[in-house]
Amino acid sequence: MRELNDRGIGRGDRVAVVLPNGPELATAFLSIAAGASVAPLNPAFRREEFETYLSDLAVKAVVVEKADSSIAATVAETLNIPVLELESDMRQPAGWFRIHDIRQLKSPARRGGLSEPADEALALHTSGTTSHPKVVPLSHQNLVHSANNVQAVLHLCPDDLGLNIMPLFHIHGLVASLLVSIIAGAQVVCAPPFDALKFYRWFAEARPTWYTAVPAMHQAILARAAHNHAVVGTSRLRFVRSCSAALPSTVTHNLERLFNCPVIEAYGMTEAAHQISCNPLPPMQRKIGTVGPPAGTEIAILDDQQRFADHHQVGEIVIRGPNVFAGYADNREANAAAFIDGWFRTGDLGFLAPDGYLTVTGRSKELIIRGGEKIAPREIDDVLHAHPAVDQAVAFSMPSPTLGEEIGAVVVLKEGMRASEHEIKEFVAERLAKFKVPQRVLFRDRLPRTATGKLQRVGLAEKLGIL
Ligand code: AMP
Repeated sequence: MRELNDRGIGRGDRVAVVLPNGPELATAFLSIAAGASVAPLNPAFRREEFETYLSDLAVKAVVVEKADSSIAATVAETLNIPVLELESDMRQPAGWFRIHDIRQLKSPARRGGLSEPADEALALHTSGTTSHPKVVPLSHQNLVHSANNVQAVLHLCPDDLGLNIMPLFHIHGLVASLLVSIIAGAQVVCAPPFDALKFYRWFAEARPTWYTAVPAMHQAILARAAHNHAVVGTSRLRFVRSCSAALPSTVTHNLERLFNCPVIEAYGMTEAAHQISCNPLPPMQRKIGTVGPPAGTEIAILDDQQRFADHHQVGEIVIRGPNVFAGYADNREANAAAFIDGWFRTGDLGFLAPDGYLTVTGRSKELIIRGGEKIAPREIDDVLHAHPAVDQAVAFSMPSPTLGEEIGAVVVLKEGMRASEHEIKEFVAERLAKFKVPQRVLFRDRLPRTATGKLQRVGLAEKLGIL
């Protein structure tokens, strides 16, 4: 922190960090946030993305790896932003680093010293890729409340060891893998960027008691399980956590069978500093297909008239609590639309059962309206996932001249398996009402995803080139 203050960086100043996943990214985040705000960026961004993000965030400096040939440093130079090079040393403990200045920052920090609870600790972007992403500032208070909320569900102890495979430029990894471990006094091994082919090697080496990931990673891990039975046999996993996208129930069942431990699904978002609800661990009941009861965040459902909805009535999920951010940076218009009477509108649809368990049914923007019929695409995803030849699948809205919208689906088949478009449609037709059967089924080698592994349903038809 003192090193940053000497370089003119203090509380409230943003520092972009562009590093590959691993222990140095974790320690850079923790040490910089102690006295400034961290804006971690995906090292895989292209030039235009760095230009947009670095200008948007008005960062005071950019931290990159020493001798990094990435474009982040070049873009920073062209934008006249000082670059700080991070040098690690394999002989030192994991996470050790030294900072080198490429160009010395002269002016002293306006506000030096340790960050206060209300100071910004982290600046992230919304995960939307279709419109200009909004900046989400999160305070230390937001992050600490959120990490405590995760710990209240997981009950980590000093003997626990988490294997972090989530990107540490996303809220999920930062809070529900890194910060929760620190708050609990537990251990965390920060793996390099996710690679399903290497997962079981890391798993054997670290011997984790738990890990958290997005469904796409769980699916990739499951897909390689057959070649790694010996490693799986040594597992000491207490549980597996999933968050950040809907977890198909077949994946939950297969993971539970593989690792012989409970799989708990949580629901979270960047604006809530991650966790909103989470299924509890045994002996409490986890309900597959739900995202569990509120886990430290207040949850309500609003109907079309913006009144509180009854149990089982689908509406927009709204949230409030000390982990929820105060508003998007410099965006009065977005904030006016995002909050209602102190509640933040998630843009997600769902319902609460009388026992308090929340089910997410989709996003309001994703809803497919086919000839007046409203269809939650997730329902179709679940059926597609149940097909024995389907590895991954996603349903989406396609424009239709007659019905307004039609349903499309893109499917990734399991290795060595076959299925025709006709067979898949038949399979869905056997399980769902006719109006929910996709009009088109496309086969691809992989699903189009954002950098953090999310499926972006909106605009998928265009992305797949079928418009
Ligand atoms: P992010 O801000 O990248 O964490 O994305 C947050 C969004 O991911 C939420 O608003 C939801 O739309 C979605 N999401 C997160 N967790 C789940 C879940 N368990 N089931 C369905 N959608 C989820």
